[in-house]
Amino acid sequence: MNWESWGRYPRLSQTAKALYWQSEAPHLLAEGTYLPVGLGRSYGDVCLSDSGTVMTTKFMNRVIAFDHRSGHIRAEAGIALSDLLKVTLPHGWFLPVTPGTKYVTLGGAVANDVHGKNHHTAGTFGRHVTELVLERSDGRRIVASATNDEPWFRATIGGLGLTGLIVEVSLRLKRVQGPFVSQELIRFRSLDDFSKLTESSDRDWEYTVAWVDAARRSRGLGRGIFIRGNHASKQGKPDIPGPRINIPVQGPEWLLNPWSIRCFNNLYYHRPLKSGLQHFDPFFYPLDVLGHWNRLYGRRGFVQYQCAIDDLDLVGRILAYCAKHKRYSFLSVLKKFGNQPAAGTLSFPMPGYTLTLDLPADPNTLRVLDQLDQWVLDAGGRIYPAKDARMSRDTFKRCFPQWRDMQPFMDPRISSAFWQRVSGEKP
Ligand SMILES: Cc1cc2nc3c(=O)[nH]c(=O)nc-3n(C[C@H](O)[C@H](O)[C@H](O)COP(=O)(O)OP(=O)(O)OC[C@H]3O[C@@H](n4cnc5c(N)ncnc54)[C@H](O)[C@@H]3O)c2cc1C
Repeated sequence: MNWESWGRYPRLSQTAKALYWQSEAPHLLAEGTYLPVGLGRSYGDVCLSDSGTVMTTKFMNRVIAFDHRSGHIRAEAGIALSDLLKVTLPHGWFLPVTPGTKYVTLGGAVANDVHGKNHHTAGTFGRHVTELVLERSDGRRIVASATNDEPWFRATIGGLGLTGLIVEVSLRLKRVQGPFVSQELIRFRSLDDFSKLTESSDRDWEYTVAWVDAARRSRGLGRGIFIRGNHASKQGKPDIPGPRINIPVQGPEWLLNPWSIRCFNNLYYHRPLKSGLQHFDPFFYPLDVLGHWNRLYGRRGFVQYQCAIDDLDLVGRILAYCAKHKRYSFLSVLKKFGNQPAAGTLSFPMPGYTLTLDLPADPNTLRVLDQLDQWVLDAGGRIYPAKDARMSRDTFKRCFPQWRDMQPFMDPRISSAFWQRVSGEKP
């Protein structure tokens, strides 16, 4: 099986085995080293194995129970959020938190404790999980929740798949009246304007996020488009569309070069903005329309750098530094996180801003990112493991000084390339 992460960097040869039924798990887990994975939508190496077998869970994808009245759902961990929505949306229930793609499994959403445009109102995905069923390699089954085996619950949410195979997830859904979102798009000229917009929007708007033009050197630095939305009452068909276009082959490496990215960003910034009612799919998942868009970066692949820092001036410094070194990001996102307590031991979000940059995986990018790491660490910030492919061991340990708290919960037969890199521990 051809298995790679979304950034297609690093390239590691992978042996993969598919899990279809929960009953196969104890047998498969009994020997060797493995890593349970979902749909490989993590950008770096949290979903890659260095020396073991990748266990794909996407066929273990059944809904076990769904209560239409209370909005509680229990499903196998390999189900994609897109398939979950097909079951729940016709009954007026939406995901309480969703990342920027619906092609993510329940298990993957839990293991990275993902966040969405509503972090300021809803916190992370893990806050809405009511129970997890975990299969350990010694044959134990642990049913964990906030009231039962809570330490296992906290270690598994955001636990990067290292505590065992998540086989079932119970989730509290969010009531919505229909499949539409009322959205407003506002162009802003600077990070100060972004700050004002986010401060004035976060109380009345459930979803807020900004696209930033990360290809400006000085004039226009920090400009972008602010997006805010609320679920609307308009009724309609709850369609869950698939990709409209598929990128069939990997693009040539020159395609996304500093010049083409600057042009794209300029056009995107000046495009006509249309506020109003919007179907939920393009609002939450604009990139899903293009299947395999990660191939656009060509053979070298790309890295996504996502940091959390409580310092907007530093966001400006990061953008300026990347621009000075012609590391222009194609898709750059800025959001202010809320203050909700972390759901998991290693959960990434913290109060402050989160900036996301997509950059080609080449030596210049890696040099620039090493400098950014220093600034992020000096500011008491952190880097998101779900997106990472290159942070050093020291950087990880300073970002997550609580990493040792994970040790009693680690499954001795599980490891990832990420974990071996940042902890230095071999299975
Ligand atoms: C276009 C795009 C937009 C994104 N937007 C966001 C965003 O807005 N916010 C955000 O937080 N993330 C975002 N992401 C990242 C993505 O949501 C996470 O990386 C997510 O965890 C991927 O889920 P997956 O099912 O593909 O899991 P994988 O990437 O395959 O695996 C992720 C982790 O989960 C573990 N895992 C998976 N299944 C299991 C299981 N059954 N048992 C135990 N461990 C398991 C793996 O070991 C691994 O550590 C985005 C990714 C893309 C491609």
